[in-house]
Amino acid sequence: MSRLGVVFGGSRGIGQAAAQLLAQRGHRVVVISRNQEAAQATADTLPGGKHVGLGCDVSKEQEVQRTFDTISKTCGPVGYLINAAGINRDALLLRSKSEDMVSVLHTNLLGSMLTCRAAIRSMLSNGGTIVNIGSVVGVKGNAGQSVYSASKAGLEGFTRSLAKEVASRNIRVNLVAPGLIRTDMTAGLNEEEYGQKIPLGRFGDPQEVAQAVMFLLESPYITGHVLLVDGGLHLTM
Ligand code: NDP
Repeated sequence: MSRLGVVFGGSRGIGQAAAQLLAQRGHRVVVISRNQEAAQATADTLPGGKHVGLGCDVSKEQEVQRTFDTISKTCGPVGYLINAAGINRDALLLRSKSEDMVSVLHTNLLGSMLTCRAAIRSMLSNGGTIVNIGSVVGVKGNAGQSVYSASKAGLEGFTRSLAKEVASRNIRVNLVAPGLIRTDMTAGLNEEEYGQKIPLGRFGDPQEVAQAVMFLLESPYITGHVLLVDGGLHLTM
């Protein structure tokens, strides 16, 4: 059955790969990022030709609400929500600026709470599925990423609790925790150097994370689950 999929952070990287898979499966996709033109440009490249690109800063409650109002009026009820919007401001805690801490927590954690709340309202009648994008560092921790790691660990606790809250409404909530993936976020990292710490010996591609996202979206008996997609990196951290 074709449904409406909403992808925050869909203009690039992991979110864009997930939007592509959703569209390939015949679903209509709303691609969202702060940059509306980039979101629309991605929507225009998706197969099927009925997709929409919207601009929204996920960390701003009113923008998120307005975005879901627009979706509800122009596209209908949400079936799938993917929360891939995220930022990092990596630094040792002693060197971290509080405005950076707030940005990371508001984008990565509060943002997903806001979109989940709005999407769940839209899913109450027909059910739905949510996949949040966490990180292996939310599971294992990493020096120099304490704030980012806290945002992703928080997202895990949020995912499990929300899964319990909404299961009776036929709404499932899961989390994919990627390792090092080839996107703009990791463009400054030397793959040869960091790849040595990864049992599979390389960074992952966004499509490999998107595959796991689709698996969770399409698995009717999985909820409250954390799925690591990291080439085994968690084994060595
Ligand atoms: P990218 O930097 O490639 O893409 C990030 C996406 O999020 C863009 O579409 C960006 O668009 C959007 N975005 C950022 N901030 C906001 C905001 N405030 N409101 C709305 N959209 C926003 O990142 P990745 O694809 O690498 O990361 C996707 C997710 O996966 C993130 O949550 C990240 O933390 C997580 N992750 C990534 C890993 C990696 O190795 N790449 C590893 C583990 C987790 P715009 O800038 O226009 O808003």
